[in-house]
Amino acid sequence: MIKTKKDIRALTRDELRDYFVAQGEKAFRGNQVYEWLWNKGAHVFEDMTNLSKETRTFLDEHFVINHIKVDQMQRSTDGTIKNAVKLHDGLIVESVLIPTSSRTTACVSSQVGCSLNCKFCATARLKRMRNLNPDEIFDQVVAIDQQSRLYHNRPLSNIVFMGMGEPLMNYNNVVKSIEKITDPEGLGMSPRRITVSTSGVPKIIKKMADDEVKFNLAVSLHSALDDVRTDIMPFNEQMPLQELKDALQYWYIKTKKRITYEYVVWRGINDQDKDIEALIDFCLAVPSKVNLIEYNPIDDGQFQQADPEAINRYVAKLEDRGITVTVRRSRGKDIDAACGQLANKEA
Ligand code: SAH
Repeated sequence: MIKTKKDIRALTRDELRDYFVAQGEKAFRGNQVYEWLWNKGAHVFEDMTNLSKETRTFLDEHFVINHIKVDQMQRSTDGTIKNAVKLHDGLIVESVLIPTSSRTTACVSSQVGCSLNCKFCATARLKRMRNLNPDEIFDQVVAIDQQSRLYHNRPLSNIVFMGMGEPLMNYNNVVKSIEKITDPEGLGMSPRRITVSTSGVPKIIKKMADDEVKFNLAVSLHSALDDVRTDIMPFNEQMPLQELKDALQYWYIKTKKRITYEYVVWRGINDQDKDIEALIDFCLAVPSKVNLIEYNPIDDGQFQQADPEAINRYVAKLEDRGITVTVRRSRGKDIDAACGQLANKEA
């Protein structure tokens, strides 16, 4: 019988220490291996030069080190870089580097495909294949940090979980990846520079609040009217807006962190005054701000960006009620790297 090797990056630092003790070695060997895996990015045991040759061979016989591979990289005229990332089992996800004058942001995927069914999103058309492991999310960040240094001469400054998948449907692994990303002995990024974006899963938002997570929360709202939202995001039927609002109020009470609502205005769908009034009501329930994002067409014509006049009305009315609103332009459109366009056409 062939013995399958274990994924060594699935072990915590303590588990690695215990493993070495069980083998009759010193616990600090576990720390050394952990550092090679998570701080120094070792891809093979052979590279772990402060371990004896025998230990390296032993580890190689019992474990694998899984790593993502940037399979294809596309560069946009605006500096945005899109990566098709191959996972150890051959599946592909996409991740994006978005540079602006003040920051460089990594947009990472959390699942292969997505189980939610937002009608305007390209990823929703791919069936959900599996969740990403914490190391697969971490590796996307490392790869983009390297690209940021190489092509833009600065380290990565921010991370958004706005790539493929619904992060709150893979909550445990997302949290574990953020632990590694923020670990001072690893990448050491501040959780304040990390934003998890969700289409709004009330139960998990409450759990995040209970866990007192330190990263930011963005919610893809797109409509504050149940009938409209259910039309464009059918899962809203099972998780209606009142439940979402309750969860967000709970979040704010526990974390004191303001929420960002992502919102696309579409012609004939949510561009009327009643839509704006409902959004204002929703916003007043919890301290929040609104990010109006540009629609990136996904080739079916059903959804069209609203007229500038409608966007201006949204901005004016929200500001009039003291709600902060920003209008975000899309990046990387020429390489299909913009929000909602990630669908690995090659796969
Ligand atoms: N599942 C998570 C994260 C991935 S989507 C979420 O829903 O938040 C990241 C953002 O892109 C979300 O705000 C989503 O609503 C938005 N989006 C999806 N398709 C889009 C499109 N075609 N154009 C513009 N934004 C889109």
